[in-house]
Amino acid sequence: MIKGILQYAHTLLEESLQPGDTAIDATCGNGHDTLFLCQTVGANGHVYAFDIQEQAITNTAQRLAAAHQTNATIIQDSHANFVNHIPVDRLNRIGGAIFNLGYLPGSDKSVVTKGESTILALEGILEHLKPGGTIVLVVYHGHSGGKTEKDALMHYVRSIDQQICNVLYYGFVNQKNNPPFILALHKKAHQDH
Ligand code: SAH
Repeated sequence: MIKGILQYAHTLLEESLQPGDTAIDATCGNGHDTLFLCQTVGANGHVYAFDIQEQAITNTAQRLAAAHQTNATIIQDSHANFVNHIPVDRLNRIGGAIFNLGYLPGSDKSVVTKGESTILALEGILEHLKPGGTIVLVVYHGHSGGKTEKDALMHYVRSIDQQICNVLYYGFVNQKNNPPFILALHKKAHQDH
């Protein structure tokens, strides 16, 4: 079976996250991925969920409350500032992160992720990521401004040293209407080749 985009994004994170890890949801939106990350890192782990929109913060808080999850901190700020919100002991234990790019479905389509802040956050998280950890980006690019962000992101990820990181591209090449695809950055463990 070939997994769909969202299903495969979760598989990649499940394979890289350990119980007790720190995980980052860089664009929490409606909170589906935040909840998934909370369940994956367990009670000893912690999830930091970011979004700049109040609606997303509310939706995520409600979803976690309904599922009785208490191991997350939800932060209304740009993911580019993630480092200011995570205590050092948790910062050293980042096992995985996810970005869903584009706009929040059912909300203001003018609020979209932007290449510059996405790349700043990505670079910063990659620096702190544990060896063996994975950052998954689900790249939606059909909206206005989406191509500019995608092009900037592709340029950046292609430049990452292959000794440090493997960058995976996963997508369906015959789907119509700019389907989303996955970029996954896997930070090599010391024994990897
Ligand atoms: N396109 C996806 C959902 C993307 S949601 C889908 O269809 O499923 C993207 C979220 O990123 C939005 O909620 C938006 O508010 C948020 N966002 C935009 N810029 C951000 C930033 N700099 N930091 C954190 N969140 C941001």
